[in-house]
Amino acid sequence: MNLDDAPAPRCTICPRQLLDHEAGRFICTPCEQRIDQDLRKLAGPAGLYARLCLRIQPGRRGGDGPAVSGSPGARLPVNETILSLTANGGIVSTLETWVEDWASYGLGVHGTGGRLQHRVDTAVVTLRRNLGRAAYRHPALDEFGSEVGKIARQAEAIITGEKKPRVIPVMCPCGTVTGVTLNTDGFTCRDCRTEYGHGEALRLTPVRSAA
Ligand SMILES: [Zn+2]
Ligand SMILES: [Zn+2]
Repeated sequence: MNLDDAPAPRCTICPRQLLDHEAGRFICTPCEQRIDQDLRKLAGPAGLYARLCLRIQPGRRGGDGPAVSGSPGARLPVNETILSLTANGGIVSTLETWVEDWASYGLGVHGTGGRLQHRVDTAVVTLRRNLGRAAYRHPALDEFGSEVGKIARQAEAIITGEKKPRVIPVMCPCGTVTGVTLNTDGFTCRDCRTEYGHGEALRLTPVRSAA
């Protein structure tokens, strides 16, 4: 670590050193693009939110209890997760909470309600429209980015029926092994406290599992 030079400001997410043309930003341009992609994936008629809603197994018509399925085992175990993600209080509320938060920084205004899908789309449009300015103005973009990324990955995993992402053990030069996934946001080595961003983490030497 160079303690003698004044440290160049770093991206609060990955945490790459910010380049000259990124001066004044909280996050680097690639991290902004990654967040923007995650947001874009969520919205619209073919977006993750809409596709999650299509996966809800409907309850018995007229019943307000738990869904009862015609054949045993036909009901997906992930249904509860999908319901909590797609209901009021799920994805839509996470996004709208951020819209409200950003509005207090002068970054957009809160939407005006409507159907859940419409609220998701409106929130995403507002957040995407203001993301470029938020990169300079909002100090909690790391939290925002990881929440949005988590939602997108969770939705993608349900839709594609994916299992948990494969964990790859990588070794820090200090010798400590940490498990990361291809989706990692980065990590801090628990021994030497070196911080690794997404790309850096994946460039570390993978450790072969003991044969
Ligand atoms: Zn970054
Ligand atoms: Zn280490």
